[in-house]
Amino acid sequence: MPESKLSQFFLMKELKFLSTGSWRQGRIWTCEKLRTGAEVCPRCATPSTCRYGVAYTNVRDEVVRGQPILLRIRKHRYLCKVCRKPFTEAVPGILPRRRTTQRLRKQMLLDCEQFTNLSQVAHRHYFSKSFVHRLFYEQMELRLRERVGQRWPQVVGIDEHFFSRSKGFTEFTTVFTDIGRRKMFEMAESKNKSSLLEQVGQIEGRQNVTLAVMDLSRGYHALAKELFPNARIVADKFHVLRLLTPALIRVRRQIHGHRQELHLRRKLLMNRGRLEYFQRCEVDRYLNQHPELKELYHFKERLHQLYRTKGYVRAGQALQNLLLEMERSTQPDVVRLRATLKAWSPEILEYFRSRFTNAFTEAMNGIAKLVQRRGCGYRNFKNYRLRTLNACPL
Ligand SMILES: [Zn+2]
Repeated sequence: MPESKLSQFFLMKELKFLSTGSWRQGRIWTCEKLRTGAEVCPRCATPSTCRYGVAYTNVRDEVVRGQPILLRIRKHRYLCKVCRKPFTEAVPGILPRRRTTQRLRKQMLLDCEQFTNLSQVAHRHYFSKSFVHRLFYEQMELRLRERVGQRWPQVVGIDEHFFSRSKGFTEFTTVFTDIGRRKMFEMAESKNKSSLLEQVGQIEGRQNVTLAVMDLSRGYHALAKELFPNARIVADKFHVLRLLTPALIRVRRQIHGHRQELHLRRKLLMNRGRLEYFQRCEVDRYLNQHPELKELYHFKERLHQLYRTKGYVRAGQALQNLLLEMERSTQPDVVRLRATLKAWSPEILEYFRSRFTNAFTEAMNGIAKLVQRRGCGYRNFKNYRLRTLNACPL
């Protein structure tokens, strides 16, 4: 089949193929727009049929069989009799003053998300890396602009994750999620209260928030009190349950001097209800040999037991009983746990009323970490935010 026929097949349907030549590593196709009668003036929208010569423009199109394609389009010029000025006809599929067709941009954006890095996209489409970078980040920003003006959701999850160490100290990122609808809401730099208030304080609808779920962090507690005046705070179940884990691991290491015998370590940390009968026996045998672990293990299980309680009132009673029981202990870790539980008891009990946990926020942290790995870390928070918000359900 001659190249002219093939080219006509690949061209946009508004264009007519004229001739071909070689250009860099690919081909240059000269074509013109099929005439449709009158053209509309871009200034005053009056149709005009008065011809005013031709003009050529060069536009990049999609890669065909691995070869870049440059379209040299012969465009007709018309004179508008109302404005008394000439204008050049527009070609559908190419925006004014753009040097690339819309379908090429669309393909490149798709590749930016599919390929492992932007350099590969640049290589595939014969563009510079900076062009691909600009195109991609511009597009992501546009996509996020649709969300401008959205209001705070009813149930907000707050959590932090590591961002960067490039400035010589560790920087964190704070994530806000809409737990009720299982969506990512917003990301902000640092976990400092005043800095966060500056970044997300102007978002509308702070009074709407009725629940804020978070881990046991004083900083976020203070932030939520100020940012969401009508919200009740829920302490995340997972973080409460693992309060004794570091102590258990530390005491075990003091006994053995190493971190081995991992199978037993895991069984010690697991919820007892999920162990088999013979596994429970094994744990009990081990604990009888090491009484210093026994008390920690007992209170760890009591925490699990607390979370199995049904209902707000009963849970309140169970927590009171647990605190009383802890009072008798002299183990420093238990004393510390008791202080924490006492300080956070309203937030812990709030879970039994609303039943919300921060699991979804932790899942979003997981996606954020994948984005970081894929980009081998980020230096610019703005780009990192765009990338992560676009990767998460919004
Ligand atoms: Zn006009």
